[in-house]
Amino acid sequence: MQEYFVEETLSPGKIIELPKDKADHAFKVLRLSHEMIRLVSQGTGWFAEAYQEGKKGLARVISRDPDINELPVDFTLCMALIRREKFELVLQKAAELGVSKIVPFVSSRCVVKAKEEKSQRQLERWRAILTEASEQCKRNRIPDIVSPLSVSDLDTCMQSVNLCAYEGVRTSAVSVSGAMKPEPVTAVIGPEGGFSEDEVKLLETMGYTPVSLGNRILRAETAAIYICSVIGEALM
Ligand code: SAH
Repeated sequence: MQEYFVEETLSPGKIIELPKDKADHAFKVLRLSHEMIRLVSQGTGWFAEAYQEGKKGLARVISRDPDINELPVDFTLCMALIRREKFELVLQKAAELGVSKIVPFVSSRCVVKAKEEKSQRQLERWRAILTEASEQCKRNRIPDIVSPLSVSDLDTCMQSVNLCAYEGVRTSAVSVSGAMKPEPVTAVIGPEGGFSEDEVKLLETMGYTPVSLGNRILRAETAAIYICSVIGEALM
């Protein structure tokens, strides 16, 4: 069942006109005619009937979708800027795995630098990836994303549980699930080159707990997907 995020406040029986891009997709691409779709508005999912009336693409709201598709607490993923296609893969998987907010950041060993002049267009592309992934997996919200911060700004992203994935803790093996509590959580993943010793110390001083993702060294994108999976499971 196709899902679309809409701005209107919805209620059973209400008929809304779908925005042009969503109507084009529903009626020209999917060729829907009186089929059911899922609409999401202000964090709530609704079932609706999609149909055309003349040139208008309409949807008649039928009922609320009782399924809650969101994690029970906010989950922020602070992700170092890594190569574009890998970073965009992380965005898509983080949306599927229930992340509430993604904070890109730059650290000393990032191979990719945040380019000021590209930032607005890049942010719009990132938001489009998150919207498409959230519609595809039937979420009730689209993760927020902001312009890249510096690693030294990550104290502004902290919540009740604050984890920083660091391969250097393999010996003491503080695991993600061992550090987790059912409270708002922020997790930090470093770049391809990893964190410098100073950056790990800085994050620890901020209050982040270094955690191990096991004894193998994972690629940054694998580490991000892994930690989102373990946190999601711990919050179920
Ligand atoms: N420094 C690594 C490369 C960094 S991996 C190397 O020696 O090749 C990219 C990021 O993934 C790291 O900064 C860390 O946040 C995370 N990561 C990868 N493997 C990990 C592990 N086994 N435990 C904890 N974090 C890990």
